[in-house]
Amino acid sequence: MAEKRDYYEVLGVSRSASEEEIKKAYRQLAKKYHPDMNPGNAEAADKFKEASEAYAVLGNEEKRRQYDQFGMSAFDGSAGGGGFDFNSADFQDIFSDLGLGGIFGDLFGGGRRSANPNRPMQGANVRTHVSITFMESIEGCSKTIDVMIKDECPNCHGTGAKPGTAPKICPKCKGRGQVVYTQQTMFGMMQNVQPCPDCRGTGKVIEDKCPNCHGTGYVMNKKTIEVRIPAGIDDGQAIRIREKGEPGVNGGPRGDLLVEVSVARDPQFVRQDLDLFSNKDITFAQAALGADIVIRTVDGDISYSVKPGTQSGTRVRLKGKGVPDVRGRAGRGDQYVTLIVRTPVKLSSEAKELLEQFDAASDRSLSAGEYTAKGASPETGKKKKKKSFVDRMKDALDG
Ligand SMILES: [Zn+2]
Ligand SMILES: [Zn+2]
Repeated sequence: MAEKRDYYEVLGVSRSASEEEIKKAYRQLAKKYHPDMNPGNAEAADKFKEASEAYAVLGNEEKRRQYDQFGMSAFDGSAGGGGFDFNSADFQDIFSDLGLGGIFGDLFGGGRRSANPNRPMQGANVRTHVSITFMESIEGCSKTIDVMIKDECPNCHGTGAKPGTAPKICPKCKGRGQVVYTQQTMFGMMQNVQPCPDCRGTGKVIEDKCPNCHGTGYVMNKKTIEVRIPAGIDDGQAIRIREKGEPGVNGGPRGDLLVEVSVARDPQFVRQDLDLFSNKDITFAQAALGADIVIRTVDGDISYSVKPGTQSGTRVRLKGKGVPDVRGRAGRGDQYVTLIVRTPVKLSSEAKELLEQFDAASDRSLSAGEYTAKGASPETGKKKKKKSFVDRMKDALDG
């Protein structure tokens, strides 16, 4: 490489330029010389590289001070750009503002956020699915599932090339994995960077395919995986098992396995966040007189005392009988039980007679308005009801 130009000269700013002025100057140069804007233009690429290197130093307070003090020799040990931080947030800012790709990997090699197709990349996540019962969701459980997951082909070690051969650099994109399309639009020439169609973004093409994996580099293997499902998991939540997904590329880590959990509906309980809702039927006599009843909870049956005079639809709260928080932070929810008074049907003649006697006996309280709607007069309330036993007797006598 030729003698390096002074960084201030490269950016076209004075030695006393402010941080903001330096950033602005680099923005302008990046916009002008970015390879996305100048595909195939080596001169522009060099200018871009030069400006980026200058900005990597002058845009950083500490490095700028070293440069001011020692000049280029401050960075000689890291010639070629490898020692510069080309992944700093400043660069990301500028490029995303400009709508340009971070392409340092291509220019300098080794950039973590670059589009370099040879950089290590984490494998894709794999989604799978497991069904559990309602009680398993409350108590937590362990499930063994079988998943078909990609593995590196043992024959070609993931290259996809027949053993003894090697993948070639893709001639269409020259190994970059991307191609730039130029389009005439009403706004002028627009450039569009897309993954290379010949190598699908890998930068490599395989001429002699590995017979074991047909050139994909992968084989499918059935894996048996133990999934620990924590207590309190809700329908549709997923469990992430790190690095059990597809293999990484270029030495990157495997992706994750995401196990989506389906919780079967329960005939008794409806869950809402951490609370459970259920219904409990009680008889007319239990509601009127009060009674000890048995209520099902997820912890088992418990005894509950119904108060005398309980109305149908009364909701009782059983504290702490809900669902445990799946993360263990919020403790447990509550269970809400709606008491439903069942009106008796198919009465025996004896039961009928007793009820009629009961109706007769309670007629005075009905007349006093205890059963009528609020605001309605006892008379109106009474007229709406079926004539009572006593009324019918009266009618008969009067007639
Ligand atoms: Zn293979
Ligand atoms: Zn290609």
